[in-house]
Amino acid sequence: MAISVSTGSNVIENKDTPIRLRFPVKQDDYADARIRLTQALQTSLDLNIILEVFFEEIQSLVPLQGMLYQHAPKDCEALVGREYKHRINYRLTTSHDDLGNLTFSRPKRFREQDMVALESVLSALICPLRNALQYRDAVQSALRDPLTGVGNRVALENALEREIQLAERHEQPLSMLVADIDYFKRINDQYGHACGDDVLKEIAQSIKAVTRLTDLTFRYGGEEFVVLLNKTDTEGAEVIAERIRKFVEKVCVETHRELIKSTISVGVSTLREGEAGCDLFRRADAALYRAKHQGRNKVVCDSDQTKS
Ligand code: GH3
Ligand code: MG
Ligand code: MG
Repeated sequence: MAISVSTGSNVIENKDTPIRLRFPVKQDDYADARIRLTQALQTSLDLNIILEVFFEEIQSLVPLQGMLYQHAPKDCEALVGREYKHRINYRLTTSHDDLGNLTFSRPKRFREQDMVALESVLSALICPLRNALQYRDAVQSALRDPLTGVGNRVALENALEREIQLAERHEQPLSMLVADIDYFKRINDQYGHACGDDVLKEIAQSIKAVTRLTDLTFRYGGEEFVVLLNKTDTEGAEVIAERIRKFVEKVCVETHRELIKSTISVGVSTLREGEAGCDLFRRADAALYRAKHQGRNKVVCDSDQTKS
């Protein structure tokens, strides 16, 4: 079932079954619930909290076991509770924006009065949801490198702390790669800064292309990238670093004159017990320094030094 909620034209329209409700909805059985809901939803700008509060508050009107929120263009998905067999889906759009989809589910069939109740209170979600999405965009852009689209240094610092805590709690390995483009200054000098920027973008994409979705990529500085590999020990990290190195070696960036090829050097380190993030980075960076000294286009693990 597809229902679009349109606050812009003040209409809720169910395209499959002809339900049309007008906003502001007349004083009805759900007016109190809407006021309560509006107040509760004002307490946060966090999307997950907004969804949880909404889910909790509507239980007294329509008992539900699951609520899935999806917004594909924003790469956003959040599930409250669990998904069940019987579902009802609402597409949330206004005349200005697409606010995504909400799917309510439960083991019991939905009745007509359940839908009327849900549709009566959905309008209270529109403004808080829009604000939460805008807040999420602002937070994300503050953590993203504008040129390459990967995380920036602030994002790395936040993620590193979180990943170290997770690795320690679950007693799982955590590895770090520090990758630096070889002779990048020459690329800028020979082809110009704009082409250099294209190479940076292409290398960021290459790293993302050959790593897992759960691996986290950041631009640490000018032409230096950091990858955090959770649940990955040194051997695994070395394999991934080699895969990135080989992939980058084959990449060609097209300029109006010719194809630019570049290589990277990579340093690898794996978290030691009780180690701080800055020391994990320092060891990977020292390994990178050795890779540069050994001729570049190379992967060096921090453990290589202790081995030899
Ligand atoms: P090495 O192999 O030792 O790493 O040599 P390199 O030339 O890559 O290293 P160096 O540190 O000498 O040069 C890094 C260059 O990266 C210099 C700087 O102009 C360039 N750079 C830094 N940030 C950007 C950027 O955002 N865009 C472009 N196009 N170039 C950048
Ligand atoms: Mg370099
Ligand atoms: Mg550098």
